[in-house]
Amino acid sequence: MEQVSEKQVAVMHYVLSGDDGTVIESTRGQGPVAVLVGAGQLVPGLDRALVGRSVGERFEVEVPPADGYGERKSAGPHAVPRKEFARDARLSEGMPLRLRGGDGEPTIVWITKVQGSQVWIDLDHPLAGKTLRFDVEIVSVRPATPEELAHGHVHGPEGHGH
Ligand code: ZN
Repeated sequence: MEQVSEKQVAVMHYVLSGDDGTVIESTRGQGPVAVLVGAGQLVPGLDRALVGRSVGERFEVEVPPADGYGERKSAGPHAVPRKEFARDARLSEGMPLRLRGGDGEPTIVWITKVQGSQVWIDLDHPLAGKTLRFDVEIVSVRPATPEELAHGHVHGPEGHGH
């Protein structure tokens, strides 16, 4: 039975649920996704859990925040007036946004809510501080091409492209 190892391309289905069982993301009903294992394409806890699994295997992984999107670093979302953003900026819920901090360094913030003239932004990823539950099924596995290894992601119709 073929097994998943690092630097291979694994094609898989997954259902990601939160602590309370709410489904956050799912590939069911769409195509499975292809990932380069051990390349940081997935949260570390899931990336590691794939290694050694067999094609056709279905399993569950519980990933604590430290192996997921990290612990929360900020107190929570805060409101910023809409007029602080460029007039043509596309601002929608769940969207990451690149801003320049006070020191001129770019930082990523996440939009949690757009309400009237206020935009709520959060310095943490929406899934930071959360325990994640993945229900995974390994569909197939294949060697990565040298180009895929160099780029750190999957090419071709099964990948997300560039
Ligand atoms: Zn590439």
